[in-house]
Amino acid sequence: DKLMYSDAVDFLPLAATHEGLADLESLESVVALPIEEEDGVFGVLAFQFQSGPRQLSKASLDALKVIGTLVSDGVIRRRSEQEIRFLAYFDELTKLPNRTLFEDRLSQAVQLALRNEVFIGVIFVDLDGFKMINDVMGHTLGDQILKAVAQGIKGRLRKMDTVARFGGDEFVVMAGNIADHHDIHGIVEKIMELFQEPFVIDEHEFFVTASVGVALFPMDGENPEALIKSAGLAMQRAKANGKHQYALCTVDMKEEVKRNMKISNSLFRALAREELTLHYQPQVRMDTGEIVGFEALLRWDHPELGTVPPGVFIPIAEKNGLINSIGEWVLKTAARQNKAWQDAGYKPLPVFVNLSVVQLSDPRLVDRVRNVFQETGLSPEYLGLEITETIAITDVRYTLETFNRLKALGVSIVIDDFGTEYSSLSRLKALPIDGIKIDMHFVQALQQSKKDQAIAEVIINLAKNLGLGVLAEGVETEAQAEFLRLKLCDCAQGHYYFRPMSPEELESMVEANKLSWLVGEA
Ligand code: C2E
Ligand code: MG
Ligand code: MG
Repeated sequence: DKLMYSDAVDFLPLAATHEGLADLESLESVVALPIEEEDGVFGVLAFQFQSGPRQLSKASLDALKVIGTLVSDGVIRRRSEQEIRFLAYFDELTKLPNRTLFEDRLSQAVQLALRNEVFIGVIFVDLDGFKMINDVMGHTLGDQILKAVAQGIKGRLRKMDTVARFGGDEFVVMAGNIADHHDIHGIVEKIMELFQEPFVIDEHEFFVTASVGVALFPMDGENPEALIKSAGLAMQRAKANGKHQYALCTVDMKEEVKRNMKISNSLFRALAREELTLHYQPQVRMDTGEIVGFEALLRWDHPELGTVPPGVFIPIAEKNGLINSIGEWVLKTAARQNKAWQDAGYKPLPVFVNLSVVQLSDPRLVDRVRNVFQETGLSPEYLGLEITETIAITDVRYTLETFNRLKALGVSIVIDDFGTEYSSLSRLKALPIDGIKIDMHFVQALQQSKKDQAIAEVIINLAKNLGLGVLAEGVETEAQAEFLRLKLCDCAQGHYYFRPMSPEELESMVEANKLSWLVGEA
């Protein structure tokens, strides 16, 4: 009621704060109704009278109050609809369009481009190492950088182009109406320029770089989804090539994705259809040549693609989540096979199984391994686990705890592909491991390089000083074997000795050659 005025004079100060609300010169009297929201008055509904102060009846005032309430409700509803629409189509932090709106605009642009025979560029911008900025400097600063990047990209583009934020540190640009597709380079380079200079926030300078991928309509996709995917692929390529650069989508990239999709789809059925098998590669003692263990290596006999090597499908299985089921199958199958050999009278030897990073970070790993022994009856001392050096040193504390629990079960642990991260032998020292496998690329460089020979020697000696076993992987020639044997490397594995074989092949080979693996012939 305090906001209902019958005298224009009282209303003037209020009216003055609302631009254009009152035509002050002709104003004689006014009835003003507050339009209210929970947290206060946000507007005034005013009826102006040109003729003199007048008194309104109670009934008229009540009617006006009802009108005021109705208007308030309407305005509030309208506002929240707008807010919801904003949230549905825009990113709150940067106020840029979000993915939904971007896809919408892109699909309109595609229609138009088809008619006008022009190109559209889709540019995927992903900041490099942004997670670290966030973790180290805090989210507030991270947010400010994201806002600055948003503004910076927007400022470098034409009005008609769209910049969207897809969440996190991902921005996607649509540059439409490109007559000559070579023009895309100029547009991308303008975006790249943004990352040449530091971002200044609260008077501090921050250097942020980005990896950028570019796709063009119509070559790299016919619809928004395909175009965004292609641009994302190219961005990943730019990252893999060393970050802070841009890459254009290529036919190769798209074919790789198609093949990966195909592999991913059929991998789901591969387990059930028993298309996966394990081959076993003997490991030998270098001084006697005697077989001392096996590495289990996964094979996939794909009905159309033929034999797919693990290097191709394991990364895919890690992405689509199948690696846990596959890894468990590998553990069980290798353990069961090894037990079967022992039961058949072969001398008990350990079988080594490769573990993926995904398996190592699974908290159920230790239970799963324990389970394998219960199910197969294999004794834990005859199972070894191979874990790559890179995995083992990414989170040493977690690795240490997991390794300790695995060791407590009685299994042995070796570090695979050693030598790819030269600096880390001292860090490995902290882990309860039994041995290392010197990486194959390293072994194979022995002949060409004196430096590699020296390093190999150092690795062998260091490992021995730490009380670890040393196995050289991928030994292919007599010369390599000779060198390693002279340097007192314990064990080796490679085509020079044995290739990976199916259990049947292995058994017949051992029997044909009367190898010492059979009990009694050692
Ligand atoms: P890795 O564990 O380092 O395995 C050694 C690889 O070297 C095997 O390749 C083996 O066939 C190959 N190799 C052995 N001797 C020689 C040689 O003298 N010369 C050459 N050029 N190569 C040799 P493969 O079987 O293709 O396996 C590749 C990688 O895939 C393995 O590297 C391992 O990281 C992974 N992998 C294999 N099986 C499994 C599995 O069951 N689970 C997981 N997570 N990864 C696996
Ligand atoms: Mg291995
Ligand atoms: Mg290896």
